Amino acid sequence: MLSLKRNSKGEFVPASGIRSRASSLYDPTSEKIFNISRSKFSDFLTCPRCFYLDRVKGLASPSTPGWTLNETTDLLLKKEFDECRETQTPHRSFQKAGLTNVIPFAHEEIEKWRDSLHAGLKYEIPGTNISLSGGVDDIWQDIKSEQLIVVDYKSQANNNPVTPEDYLNGTYHQGYKVQMDFYAFLLTKMGFDVSPIAYFYVCNADRSAPGFGGKMYFEETLVPYQWDSSWIEKRVFEMLEILNSDKMPESNLACENCAYSRQRAIMEKTSE
Ligand code: SF4
Repeated sequence: MLSLKRNSKGEFVPASGIRSRASSLYDPTSEKIFNISRSKFSDFLTCPRCFYLDRVKGLASPSTPGWTLNETTDLLLKKEFDECRETQTPHRSFQKAGLTNVIPFAHEEIEKWRDSLHAGLKYEIPGTNISLSGGVDDIWQDIKSEQLIVVDYKSQANNNPVTPEDYLNGTYHQGYKVQMDFYAFLLTKMGFDVSPIAYFYVCNADRSAPGFGGKMYFEETLVPYQWDSSWIEKRVFEMLEILNSDKMPESNLACENCAYSRQRAIMEKTSE
């Protein structure tokens, strides 16, 4: 996909390819807290080289448009769950999923925890100047055990009905599990007692509907997921090593973007 840089008036402006905000760049000599978000940690897991180029060297990757339809289901679900949070009552989906004693968790910081851009769940790694953050979609609570339940809303359009097994085994859903492990890790490190089972609230659009008619219908399924954060700390320390290194890490051989820029450089050189 081609991405053209525009200013706030929508006019095209030259793209430098370099980050201009110093706060986005890691400085190994600084003692100021540097935050790594959940998405940057996922970037590191996908390709340490791209993560390094971004956070240490300041290479700006092309921007991508927002997923406004998916964001809208998230937004509307948040409104529904906030109503239940306000009244401290179970959501309409809980009974069908066999979730008794569960209500949306009411906490003064919940808005902050859901704000992935400016705050999120946060944990400062002891002995370092690094904090980790992640904006969670929702948190529920089992009022009997008092444990918190991590929740992630997901929207999709798949012809097959959602089943927990297929959903969790899906090739493109492995990153979702990483996401959930990371939120549970942060919440645990923040001192909360977290239920071993998290939930994906999956909204699957009905593609077999006879027509659009200005409406789209979704089947909602709660997919339980037993999170595992035991692997995270080790990878976080690997990430710190890379941040503090002056050696360029390996790239991901499966990456089509790198293959594209490699081939493009060859083609441009040979046609000079
Ligand atoms: S393989 Fe190349 S383009 Fe792909 S993620 Fe890594 S550094 Fe970036």
